Amino acid sequence: MAEKKQEKFDTLKIHAGYDPKEHNYASSVPIYQTVAFGFGDSGRADRLVNFKEKGFSYTRMGNPTTAVLERRIADLDGGADAVAVGSGMAAVSYTILNLAEGGGRIVAAANIYGSSFDEFRTLFPKYGIHFDFIDDINDFDQVESAIKEDTKAIFVESVTNPTTAVTDVAALAQLAHRHGIPLVVDNTFPTPYLFNPIRYGTDIVVYSSTKGISGHGEVISGLIVDAGNFDFSNGRFKQFEEKEFVLGSEEEHEQRSFVEAFGNKAFIARIRIKYLRLFGAVLSPFESYLVLLGIETLSERLAKQVASAKKIAEFLAITPHVKAVQYSGLSDHPQHELVRKYFPRGVGAIFAFEVNGTEEQAKKILDSVKIFSYLPNVGDARSLIVNPGRTTHREIPSVNKKQSGLSNTVIRLSIGLEDVDDLIGDLDQAIHKAFE
Ligand code: PLP
Repeated sequence: MAEKKQEKFDTLKIHAGYDPKEHNYASSVPIYQTVAFGFGDSGRADRLVNFKEKGFSYTRMGNPTTAVLERRIADLDGGADAVAVGSGMAAVSYTILNLAEGGGRIVAAANIYGSSFDEFRTLFPKYGIHFDFIDDINDFDQVESAIKEDTKAIFVESVTNPTTAVTDVAALAQLAHRHGIPLVVDNTFPTPYLFNPIRYGTDIVVYSSTKGISGHGEVISGLIVDAGNFDFSNGRFKQFEEKEFVLGSEEEHEQRSFVEAFGNKAFIARIRIKYLRLFGAVLSPFESYLVLLGIETLSERLAKQVASAKKIAEFLAITPHVKAVQYSGLSDHPQHELVRKYFPRGVGAIFAFEVNGTEEQAKKILDSVKIFSYLPNVGDARSLIVNPGRTTHREIPSVNKKQSGLSNTVIRLSIGLEDVDDLIGDLDQAIHKAFE
């Protein structure tokens, strides 16, 4: 099943990466709840630990349940290889470290998720990795002028959290490649069902699969997919070309570089062997199983959620106490053409609206909803509501918040699987309460 890449999304989401014959014909992917795997014999042990033979030895570096998830997401995205990690933030962090380890710069959109922005602004500089933030990532002159000798990548979100601004991925990929650097896209909000960044030239895709991919608000997890097209031996990334003890032995003539050992799968192999093995934010087999279970219904969940989101956004757009609806899925949104190009199935089920009133009134809406859950997550089967300026995006400086339209009267919604009319009714009564 794993090799049949020509199959369509809905077949791959159920079968990709899993061959029941190799698992006692179990119909559901078994959970390999084990730390270690027997070497078998000393010859095989030598080959496994030197990465000369594929196989499992220790779950921090790989596990058969997790391997199914990794192959499945790679196939859904059309990538060469993928690796699962312990959270979306681990996926973001390991990707940046793998690209700019030892020092360098990354060009990044300024209107990204709060913790990513905080990490890039305040933590990575302490590791010698510096960021050039771009206010409008679709202003290509601004992006191009920020690229320097030691720039290692461009980092963007395909659809931003929470204002749903859309990034022109194809144009940015071309720009990045002209400068010999890869494009990294955080595709958490659309999930692979709504958008395939690799099809438009993206090199590395990262996910918080905590969100829509798993889809039930029950598992923190992250995924990294490599398209397998970028040449990491182009001279800018010496960490991929240097000889490694871990890929051979102490004898220099036996050592190999990641590019020599893994070819176009070097990026993911390096995350697994350097970052999972040594930094250790591994996803457990049980959590991999939960993410796999979520993926089985990804299309069905997203299709319903997107349809409901559109209806709710349209309702809010004509509600007197709403100043603006921040949802690029609406037909009068300035980015509508870009949305039509990239998102034929809709731009997503998460969006924001600005209350035409005080922050107290916005808080009253949060306190008055009965079906929506007030909590810091998105992409759940349940509908969620939050004030991002005070919570999920609190660590973004106010000047940046202002630029991306994130005031304290902005409310973010993540639409779940409940009846859409009940959801509209819930928002309607909460808004009325806030303004009575
Ligand atoms: N990327 C985006 C776009 C997110 O919205 C989030 C979390 O909200 C993350 C990354 C981090 O994911 P996690 O919470 O799984 O670490």
